[in-house]
Amino acid sequence: MKNIKNVCVYCGSSSRVDDVYKQSARQLGQILAAEGWDIVYGGGRVGLMGIVADSALQAGSKVYGIIPHHIQSREIEHTDLTELHIVDNMHTRKQMMVERSDAFVIMPGGLGTLDELFEIMTWRQLGLHDKPIVMVNVHGYWTKMIEAVRHISSVGFMRPEDLQMLIIVNDPREVPAALKAAPQQSIDPQTKWI
Ligand code: AMP
Repeated sequence: MKNIKNVCVYCGSSSRVDDVYKQSARQLGQILAAEGWDIVYGGGRVGLMGIVADSALQAGSKVYGIIPHHIQSREIEHTDLTELHIVDNMHTRKQMMVERSDAFVIMPGGLGTLDELFEIMTWRQLGLHDKPIVMVNVHGYWTKMIEAVRHISSVGFMRPEDLQMLIIVNDPREVPAALKAAPQQSIDPQTKWI
């Protein structure tokens, strides 16, 4: 694995969730900061997003937020970040988050997080990047989603080897080792169509 500097965190913007998720978001921010890694995320101060940003900032990380102007007020942007980029639309936001990051961590979240997860997996499947993707299956939150993706592969709509790009851990404490051990070889997109 090449050197990691910026880690992109995808997670939920909802605060109406059990403390177990909030606690793990807090822990993730501290753990990434302890590695000396900086954070790239969606720029909000609500939900797990805000918790990860605050805990990483407090623990000494730089935190870069990227938020589109049309959801800036709705999502309540974080105003104490190292940098807050206000961009034109969702596509620019997601593109910039990918470009600025060396690795991706998926925490529990809603539809927005799912969209980001599937996009980052699809882009890797197509060979558009080769950055590691670690999913934190906090309290089994993602288990059914993982089963759905395995089903997609088992019936032939996704290559079994593409499943390997999704590295699954159960606890934020496992994230640094998982990222460091991630294989660097990129998937050959050509073989997808054969
Ligand atoms: P959620 O997981 O739905 O709480 O959203 C997490 C993040 O994804 C937030 O920063 C949202 O702005 C973003 N988001 C929400 N809906 C979408 C969408 N349709 N496409 C991409 N990102 C989204």
